Amino acid sequence: MYNDVDRVLFDETAIQSRLQTLAETITADYLGKELAVVAILNGSLIFAADLLRHIPLPLTLHCLSIASYHGGTESSGVVTFNQLALPNLSGRHVLILDDILDSGLTLEAVSKRLTEAEKPASVRICVLLQKRKERIPAIAADYIGFEIEDEFVVGYGLDYQQRYRNLPFVGVLRSEAS
Ligand code: 5GP
Ligand code: MG
Repeated sequence: MYNDVDRVLFDETAIQSRLQTLAETITADYLGKELAVVAILNGSLIFAADLLRHIPLPLTLHCLSIASYHGGTESSGVVTFNQLALPNLSGRHVLILDDILDSGLTLEAVSKRLTEAEKPASVRICVLLQKRKERIPAIAADYIGFEIEDEFVVGYGLDYQQRYRNLPFVGVLRSEAS
C-alpha cells in the first residue's frame, strides 16, 4: 500500500499540529454555544475523530453518509444521500465536517438540504483540505486544515476506490496506482 504513494503532502505530525490550531480557533469562535457537528462519512471519519478530541466544548455528533464520487478521480456531480432521516438540527449551531472541498457540489447540497429541512441557527463548514480552484457553486469552507493544488490525494480518511483511507498521512498516488 505504501509503495503506491508517490509523495507525502502532510505527515502525521503536520496534521496533528494543524488540527490543534484549527480546534483552538473553532473553540474560541463557539465559546458559550453548543455545537451540533455533522460529519460526512466515510471521508471525514478520521479527521473528525482527531479534531473533535481537541475541542473542549459541549457538542453533539451526527453522521451523514453521502456519496458523490463513483470510483474514479473526478467528481461525478451527482450527490446521493445514503439515508433518508436527517438529524434534528433546528435552532442548533451546525458545523459540517468533510474531508475535502473539491468541486463544492457535495457541501453545497448538504448545507442546502440541512438549512432548508432543519432551520439551524447557523451553518459553517470545516474541511481538512481545500483545493485551490474556481468553483461553481462559489462555496468556500469557513475552517480549512490545508489548501492544496488541484490534484487527487488519498490517506487520512480519503480513498481511491475505497482503499488507502487508513494511511496515516495525506499523499498523492503514483500514476500507476490510479
Ligand atoms: P466535491 O467535488 O463535491 O467538492 O467533493 C466530493 C467528494 O469527493 C469529497 O467529499 C471527497 O470524498 C471526494 N474527493 C474530492 N477530491 C478528492 C481527492 O483529491 N481525493 C479523494 N480521495 N477524494 C476526493
Ligand atoms: Mg467524501
